[in-house]
Amino acid sequence: MTKDVPDNLVRRTAFPESVSRAVATPLQPSVVYASPDPDTLDAQYEGSEFGYTYSREGHPNASVLAAKIDALEGCEGGFITSTGMSAVTATLLGLLQQGDHVIGGNQLYGRSLRMMTSELPRFGISHTLADPTDAAAIEKAITAQTKMILVEVVSNPTLRVADMNGIAQVAKAHGLILVVDNTFTTPRGYQPFAHGADVVIHSITKLLAGHSDAMLGYVAARDPAHRAAIEGTIITLGLSGSPYDCWMAERGLMSFHLRYDRAEENAAALADHIAGLKGVKRVLYPGRPDHPDHNRAGALLGPRFGNMVSFEVEGTRAAANALTRAMPNMAFAPTLGDIGTTVSHAASSSHRGLTPQARAALGMSEGFFRVSVGVEDIELLKTEFSKGFEAL
Ligand SMILES: *Cc1c(COP(=O)(O)O)cnc(C)c1O
Repeated sequence: MTKDVPDNLVRRTAFPESVSRAVATPLQPSVVYASPDPDTLDAQYEGSEFGYTYSREGHPNASVLAAKIDALEGCEGGFITSTGMSAVTATLLGLLQQGDHVIGGNQLYGRSLRMMTSELPRFGISHTLADPTDAAAIEKAITAQTKMILVEVVSNPTLRVADMNGIAQVAKAHGLILVVDNTFTTPRGYQPFAHGADVVIHSITKLLAGHSDAMLGYVAARDPAHRAAIEGTIITLGLSGSPYDCWMAERGLMSFHLRYDRAEENAAALADHIAGLKGVKRVLYPGRPDHPDHNRAGALLGPRFGNMVSFEVEGTRAAANALTRAMPNMAFAPTLGDIGTTVSHAASSSHRGLTPQARAALGMSEGFFRVSVGVEDIELLKTEFSKGFEAL
């Protein structure tokens, strides 16, 4: 007689032994891992044996993904977090105490700015925002309580290039932790650890994963004490990334170098094309000689000027609407780093919280657009943007 509940029904079964192996990375969704006995579990927690326990504390898909980004950044022991913002959160809350002061670049990613201005004050952590293109301005912001400097290499959306060497010198001279959000530049454009950074952050969501279908962050620290503090914050605050997103992101990351090189080549050509279109007020691309930080970009990044192009056209919201509607194949979406080209508009998205006057002071009128250039055929891109400009 067959049993009501067969023995193997509830038990988890290993895959059959096979002389051949899977080519694709397996997805391991398990939340928990069974250890043979309490002694082994003790050894796992103490670090004398390697073993996964609970996926908030680590899992194989995160390990595989982190090791690849570590290799790109030239470091070890990076952590995967649920979003880019959770990497920023883990760094700030992991390394700062009540009473500390942090200096942030004044054109950081919007939510990183919000973290400093709205969240950190609730924990008694103060901040000053300063211009990262001017290392002297960063140095001037230092107080007796300053512990950390957080900067991005290329700012959003005006693509200004920070004085990274100057800032690294300031951080070193004053014993401050230098944190670099390398999302825009990517390790293919700039390697912060080779230039004095203590902590590197990524939004994997963007260029590294590259397909707008996985949301994750990454944070790596040079100092083992920083690494341990960040790890503790990730695990306790529950900032870890899911196996599925890691699995998707690892697949995307395999073609990152090819996507990046192609997108960068397209960006340079598209920037020159847009500069020649009727109705353009200015084009911003660090690789163009008319970019305000072109010389520094060349010294710091050259010839890796990236896939981001910004431009400004004359006109009001009506002109901005006409331009985006005339090129529906270029997704109008507030993101960057997708395999396909996306267009975003600061006044209606990233900088919508500012008054028109404040936006104007930052150089972002209603006619200001940012383009995250993708891997399409360059002729298609030129045609699409020409159509957009004709609609103005
Ligand atoms: C998008 C972004 C973030 C935040 O990443 P999420 O994955 O969206 O949380 C942080 N920094 C920069 C520079 C970004 O572009």
